[in-house]
Amino acid sequence: MTTATPPTISLHQLSLHYTLGASRIEVLRDVDLQIPAGQRVAVAGPSGSGKSSLLLLLAGLERPSSGRVQVDGVDLASLDRDALADLRRDAIGIVFQSFHLLPSLTALDNVALPLQIAGDPQAFDHARELLQRVGLAPRLTHYPSQLSGGEQQRVAIARALVHRPRVLLADEPTGNLDDHTAALIRELLFELHRDSGSTLVLVTHDLEFAARCDRVLHLHDGRLHERPRPVAQPHALPA
Ligand code: ADP
Ligand code: MG
Repeated sequence: MTTATPPTISLHQLSLHYTLGASRIEVLRDVDLQIPAGQRVAVAGPSGSGKSSLLLLLAGLERPSSGRVQVDGVDLASLDRDALADLRRDAIGIVFQSFHLLPSLTALDNVALPLQIAGDPQAFDHARELLQRVGLAPRLTHYPSQLSGGEQQRVAIARALVHRPRVLLADEPTGNLDDHTAALIRELLFELHRDSGSTLVLVTHDLEFAARCDRVLHLHDGRLHERPRPVAQPHALPA
């Protein structure tokens, strides 16, 4: 049985490299990190610094070249494919950079799918409820191609949260959105985080986002550095 307590994420001497033909790309080198349950962590860093790769490792969607990823005290390397899939289904929600919605499914079907796979008889009720929560009640039967970028992002967030994961991983969730929509998505993610008490790891360049997290980490040259948190600016100073 799983507990209701959010897990701690723990990385130990984590390294990742990709081999392309004769060349080897070092992405992460000896990364150590502990994320206590319920913490909000922002990860920043230049393009290509390995932010998305780090999230994939945390989700068990990529295997480290060396080192360990532990979620809830479980070393992901000790799990076979099925056990990893179970962990993702039960404990981890992920919002991908490019949404990854299934184009042939409506918004409602996209969000209900993870619950249907898990055999939840109330899959559609839960999916509908969450889509209403993210302001998409009038868009339930729309297909991704009929939705704006911000709407697709909200569907992706609803889908990532519908099974009440204890870890939410989000890859630049406001990266492709205008300022107004980005602000809506920020509020939504923090509101949902507050309600669920989940652990949140957020890849972002958005300083407003980072300022509201408990910690800010910076990836550079394969290394992870802790940065002082930017100070939130509640009021813009007059010019
Ligand atoms: P970021 O999200 O910070 O922009 P990524 O994690 O996507 O960075 O990529 C880090 C580096 O790894 C980049 O140089 C990228 O080209 C490379 N990379 C990412 N995925 C693969 C892959 N599947 N095969 C080979 N190289 C990859
Ligand atoms: Mg990326």
